[in-house]
Amino acid sequence: MHQLLFKILRYSGLPFLFREVVQRPRVTIVMMHDISLPAARQAFSYWKRHYNIISMQDYLNACKDESVHRLPPKPLVLTFDDGHKGNFELLPLIEELEIPITIFLCSDIVGTNRHFWFLHEGCDADNLKRVPNDERKKQLAKIGFSETEEYSVRQALSGNEIAKMKRSTLINLQSHTRFHPILTQCADRKAFDEINTSKETLEKRYSLNITGFAYPNGNYGTREIEMVKEAGYKYALTTNPGFNSLQTDLFELKRFSVNDSTNLNEIVVKTSGVWGIMKSIVRMKSSINDS
Ligand SMILES: [Zn+2]
Repeated sequence: MHQLLFKILRYSGLPFLFREVVQRPRVTIVMMHDISLPAARQAFSYWKRHYNIISMQDYLNACKDESVHRLPPKPLVLTFDDGHKGNFELLPLIEELEIPITIFLCSDIVGTNRHFWFLHEGCDADNLKRVPNDERKKQLAKIGFSETEEYSVRQALSGNEIAKMKRSTLINLQSHTRFHPILTQCADRKAFDEINTSKETLEKRYSLNITGFAYPNGNYGTREIEMVKEAGYKYALTTNPGFNSLQTDLFELKRFSVNDSTNLNEIVVKTSGVWGIMKSIVRMKSSINDS
């Protein structure tokens, strides 16, 4: 059903209009998680043809001093969340196409055989995202999940893979908490530890310079923004759909999710922002009707 809608939207001319008018002077940031190699080849090639892919650092530099660091039209920043092991398979493609990307890692899952809780079999992730952190962990324990258990199959990038990716000038590694809790469901101490210790761990273990943060599941509030600043980060990414300018609050940067899609119609529509904006209008309308 969605696929047909993506097709209709793609050929409606709206994505073209958005790209050439709305996106031209603004910075679009897209979020992926575990896109497959064939899907990545298709998406990256499309983006290379229709946008100017820039690094997160290019954007941050332009925010600091626009006169020195001018951005090209239709600038697009590519980001990956979590640090899935499949990201490593994209390295040759990234180098072949010379595409800068930023990956946000869960410091206590990468380099181990620990699992992402939301991928655990039988886990009702949508529901668990809405409960207090301790309750989420209790419910996960009931279905046999523990965040510190070392499983036989690895889900995240290994230490070796991180070291290899780090050597590429095209790859920038940043933080996405320790274990990927929903920060807004955590007590103060736990939330700050997830934000702060993940930065320290990634810096110490992999000699990285951690300045960026991505809020897990895009959940954050004023408390999380303050904690991210206190921990010494310079910017943070949300999953709020929208475009960015040089004036956008660096701790509330907007992103469009492209959902690891293999469908080009979907990639075109989602990257243009048409989908994310339509969804937020529908959400706004339903919350107006509710109240
Ligand atoms: Zn995530």
